[in-house]
Amino acid sequence: DAKGKGKNTYSVYDGGMEQGALAQLRLDNDLRRAIERNELRLAYQPIVNLGSHRVEGAEALLRWDHPELGAVPPAEFIPLAERSGLIVEIGQWVLNQACLQIKAWAEAGHTGIFVAVNVSARQIRRGLRAQVDTALALSGADPRMLEIEITEHSMVEDIASNVDQIAALGEMGIRVAVDDFGTGLSSLAYLKRLPINKLKIDRAFVKDLPHSRDDATIALAIISMAHSLELTVVAEGVETREQQDMLAAQGCDAAQGYLYSKPVAASEIGRLLAQETAAVS
Ligand code: C2E
Ligand code: MG
Ligand code: MG
Ligand code: MG
Repeated sequence: DAKGKGKNTYSVYDGGMEQGALAQLRLDNDLRRAIERNELRLAYQPIVNLGSHRVEGAEALLRWDHPELGAVPPAEFIPLAERSGLIVEIGQWVLNQACLQIKAWAEAGHTGIFVAVNVSARQIRRGLRAQVDTALALSGADPRMLEIEITEHSMVEDIASNVDQIAALGEMGIRVAVDDFGTGLSSLAYLKRLPINKLKIDRAFVKDLPHSRDDATIALAIISMAHSLELTVVAEGVETREQQDMLAAQGCDAAQGYLYSKPVAASEIGRLLAQETAAVS
């Protein structure tokens, strides 16, 4: 339950249903002011290439530091923002910050490091292409270093209206990854129809490796299918060396998880990249 998550983690589900609804209303209200009050920030989690063992990119993960409630997890405030429509404004802010970070890393000499940004279904429908254009123009970031993560759920939710937006990203040189893959019932036909570049194997299929034979079979099936469709594969939620080694042996291209690092400040990632550069030169 919420209390088990620690003192700094707030849950809207604290105190039962009625209080929950009130708390949600309050949270939604507070979220409207969060951008201007500087309460939002991005944490970055490194994505490690399993061939070179080097950091190839980082996923931007939104954090909200509420002045009274402390850290509110994205799993709680993002669904709220999706319902109210606020996700469009927040999503633009995230894209702007992420693109500024791409530019900053490139200027610090960390060329080729991409940043992956999560977007929601509503944000895609409301014109993701224009949002990305704005962020690129404002930052001067290289579009090839931007990756957009779309969950399998939101991808299949409204395929017809998403396909144009996603195709536009491809034309701009932006890579598209399907997030939480394996949980959303997308068919192979969808994968072929959409101009996507990458699949991210959901943590659900990683967490019981290497012991679960079923999960090992699923992971291998996803990796083989992805490769035959010329997609790259990243495993999410890799926490142990054994999980990493099994996924690497199965041909998985990259991995992300607590084994390497929790989501951290951009400056931490910068330090990691500088260490890697120093080690090879
Ligand atoms: P996601 O995109 O699938 O991100 C991965 C989540 O797994 C992150 O949770 C990350 O902190 C967590 N994680 C990473 N490695 C490990 C691990 O080894 N073990 C475990 N147990 N967890 C791990 P987080 O940051 O709480 O984000 C949750 C979800 O919120 C994200 O899932 C994404 O769907 C959504 N989200 C986060 N930032 C944004 C954003 O800017 N926009 C939108 N639309 N959604 C976002
Ligand atoms: Mg993601
Ligand atoms: Mg994911
Ligand atoms: Mg997820």
